[in-house]
Amino acid sequence: MLIGAIEAGGTKFVCAVGDKNGKIIDKISLPTVDPDDTLKAVKNYFANYAIEALGVGMFGPIDLDKKSSTYGSVLHTPKINWRNYPLLDKLQHDFSVPVYLDTDVNTACLGEYNYGAGKHADSCLYITVGTGIGAGFVLRGDVFQGKNHPEMGHILLRKHQDDPFTGSCPSHGSCLEGLASGTAMEKRYGMKANLLVDKEQVWEIEAYYLAQAIMNYYLILSPEKIIIGGGVMKQVKLYSMIRKYFLELLNGYLEVKQVDDLIVAPTLNDEQGVKGAIALTLK
Ligand code: ADP
Ligand code: ZN
Repeated sequence: MLIGAIEAGGTKFVCAVGDKNGKIIDKISLPTVDPDDTLKAVKNYFANYAIEALGVGMFGPIDLDKKSSTYGSVLHTPKINWRNYPLLDKLQHDFSVPVYLDTDVNTACLGEYNYGAGKHADSCLYITVGTGIGAGFVLRGDVFQGKNHPEMGHILLRKHQDDPFTGSCPSHGSCLEGLASGTAMEKRYGMKANLLVDKEQVWEIEAYYLAQAIMNYYLILSPEKIIIGGGVMKQVKLYSMIRKYFLELLNGYLEVKQVDDLIVAPTLNDEQGVKGAIALTLK
């Protein structure tokens, strides 16, 4: 059985065909343009394969409240062309197979849970630190959702004493995303994060914020695995720094036996999105 998978991002739509074991048979990257043209290219790509289901991990926010009249639509994204776009309706119209939709980060979490670093855990938190910050939580195979999907990137944190930056989030200023996303780093230092490699304090501050967020998630959700991915985490030294600050902040309140096994990197090499989209269809 062939399954279609889409990791729908703000700059590219990665489309893939795979099987239920998460094996990818073919993959293509299409530029994200306006919604109708993007979906036309997506439809053309999948026309070559007899897929029996389609899973989609979409950049958010999206309406995932099944009781809502706009269920499956894009919400207030800065990508104006995509705002209010009825994505699920359009996909269901274009494809004669069942379509499953979740956010990009929830889908990535499901990918790592099923096939990657979270494979042997009951519960798994996946955080992406990229242009923005988001997190998803999977508990015993189910993606956690309240009325709508969580927005864990926008939690409030204690400021680092050496950080005068007021934050880049248009809604909250110095929330986690406003302080620690790639966008925040670029605004604070006036250059891209990958050009700041040698500046020790930059990464101390970054790790301090990410560790605070992770401590909060850990206290609230008690995940067995915490997987951190996204472009900013290409600075692999961050993992040990985050673990150190996490333990310091936790201050022995809870016992953490193996922090190296708790806070880890993804193992699916940028395929957690499409593999998770496959897993979405297997529910
Ligand atoms: P997106 O979040 O848009 O899907 P990414 O996860 O690739 O994309 O994240 C992009 C962000 O990661 C940018 O802000 C970029 O500056 C940052 N980034 C990319 N590569 C590196 C690197 N090697 N070191 C630090 N930051 C990086
Ligand atoms: Zn915010």
